[in-house]
Amino acid sequence: MLSHGKQEEMRQKIQTGNQFIENRLNDLFENLKHACENLEKEKCNQLVDELLNCEEVMSGLSFCLDTLASEEKDNRQKYVVGSLFLRDCFNLLLKEARKNDKESLVYVTGMKVSGLIILDRVSMPQLSEQSGVYVSVDHESSKAILCDLDKYGHGLHAWFHNHTSKGESATLPSNKDFATQERLERGGYDAVGAVFSEDGFVRFFSKQTEFKIEVFGKGVKKIEDFLFKIEETTEL
Ligand SMILES: [Zn+2]
Repeated sequence: MLSHGKQEEMRQKIQTGNQFIENRLNDLFENLKHACENLEKEKCNQLVDELLNCEEVMSGLSFCLDTLASEEKDNRQKYVVGSLFLRDCFNLLLKEARKNDKESLVYVTGMKVSGLIILDRVSMPQLSEQSGVYVSVDHESSKAILCDLDKYGHGLHAWFHNHTSKGESATLPSNKDFATQERLERGGYDAVGAVFSEDGFVRFFSKQTEFKIEVFGKGVKKIEDFLFKIEETTEL
């Protein structure tokens, strides 16, 4: 995705090009009129060829403008996550959850390159509350992780947790999940949530933030825009 500055620069260049071609077309029409009036056949043919070339350039430029406009309309934050990373996160959460039959949670960071966020690293905060239907993070532990990320120029880009039941519906965020997500969005974090079910479904969600998520690689099936299924859930 082009940055806003680059988009603006490109639009200005296209518009300048368009203006140049439009002026050239007017000149050519004017010249063609005179050539026709004076019955200069060869000159007429030459001008018509030039006019056709200009038309081609103009349609190319308007295609560029249309493409630019459609890219600008989609200003949702785009996230990419690898299928292997997603499987590893699922296994990690499941392993933690199975220790005591309770929910587990990880923080996720990664690189932000040209506006694209690539989720590829987890940190495990200590949990202050943990049950079969709820999990919350210890404040001090959370602060330490966020400071560490900040020290290395990284940010919190997602938080993943699991629900201790199966099926697509098990991935629906609870009211508390939405409340946590809302706090992060209010705090200015570019972070989305994801809920894993016991059998490998994973749903990404936010409260207000509009975003897109794409899974890179094989072994994870897209069910809906924000819902995926890890096909092989046996731990390696
Ligand atoms: Zn939850």
